[in-house]
Amino acid sequence: MVIVNSKNSINNYLKDALDISDEIISNRRYLHQNPELSFVEYNTSQYIQGKLSAMGIPFTVMASTGVIAHIGTGLRCVALRADIDALPIHEETGLEFSSKFDGVMHACGHDAHTAMLLGAAKLLKRQENELGGVIKLIFQPGEEKAPGGANILIKEGVLANPTPEVIFGQHVYPGNPIGECSFVSGSMMASADELYWTIKGKSCHAAQPHQGTDPILVAAELISHLQSIITKMRNPLSPGVLAITSIHAGNVTNIVPDSVEIMGTLRSFDDEWRHLALSEIERRSLLVAELHGATCEFKPLIGYPPLVNNNKAVEFARKTAESLFGTKKVTDFEPKMWGEDFAFYAQQIPACFWVMGVRPLDIDSMPGLHNDKFTPDEDAFAYGTALLASVAINWLNNPNPF
Ligand SMILES: [Zn+2]
Ligand SMILES: [Zn+2]
Repeated sequence: MVIVNSKNSINNYLKDALDISDEIISNRRYLHQNPELSFVEYNTSQYIQGKLSAMGIPFTVMASTGVIAHIGTGLRCVALRADIDALPIHEETGLEFSSKFDGVMHACGHDAHTAMLLGAAKLLKRQENELGGVIKLIFQPGEEKAPGGANILIKEGVLANPTPEVIFGQHVYPGNPIGECSFVSGSMMASADELYWTIKGKSCHAAQPHQGTDPILVAAELISHLQSIITKMRNPLSPGVLAITSIHAGNVTNIVPDSVEIMGTLRSFDDEWRHLALSEIERRSLLVAELHGATCEFKPLIGYPPLVNNNKAVEFARKTAESLFGTKKVTDFEPKMWGEDFAFYAQQIPACFWVMGVRPLDIDSMPGLHNDKFTPDEDAFAYGTALLASVAINWLNNPNPF
């Protein structure tokens, strides 16, 4: 076990988490070996329920596979969230506890998130009688797949009875060494919408173009034109991405095909601009197609909103992390254009999402999230467990955290 900080800066929660490291790691290995895709995490859900029952922690099931547990009583409430789903990726880590299921892998570290929240549950349960309120533990399904498990749980009332004053969540992060956590106030991650177009023209022989309507020409013009939405309709101080990532049409040299399929993604930190951009993409797509006598069907799959952290909640969690790990292990996070469905909670109540370093101390880089060789260092999990437990306890012990 690697201890990153000097003994003086480690308070009891980190020591307590390090003491139960073997259990956290064993839970994570089981989950890693038995990954399940979004919204079908039935075995994972059962496993979590079994562990909670063994600890004497009551829970309810929501959205079929989500598990919502409560520790403590009282009027005040804090929520902690972990996502539990895996990805459709074939694992290539070579670990002895690699996925048992071909084509399914915990490549985003949600196995670690779940194991760390179970670890935090153990530490919190021990202190149940001294808590100044209720800690709601949300084991959430379907983070990786639209419409997002968070979205569904909120509709089913996860933020009611009681309503948390604040919610905290974390993501393992290969960009930081073990035990280094990073925070950012305000915008942290982007909205992420999937874009799908079908352009229909009229097939003809390439030597007789006047007898058809060329959808490839329409697609070429459309793709170039759409970039003007990013360059001319967006405040340049607000980040935005419009990427075309797939285009399919035709299969021979002498026939103009009758249709083109295009895919792409739109990402932004500005929810208002995002919706304006989506309607403008549709309007311009139809116009460009019409100009050529073709038709265009634009079908966006609306994804997650931008993730915006509450400044006070961030400040609180950051100070807690500094007192746990020392100031050198707490750094600034550079916002990313990734998507994360924790954003749905942040739309409803004050929220703070942070990243927890899982890179081994002796290397400078490691395979990233969603990579088939992603292997977080297990020594990091005690840090994530300690921070979850202590931020919740500190919040409830503080009569006026805002
Ligand atoms: Zn992911
Ligand atoms: Zn993830």
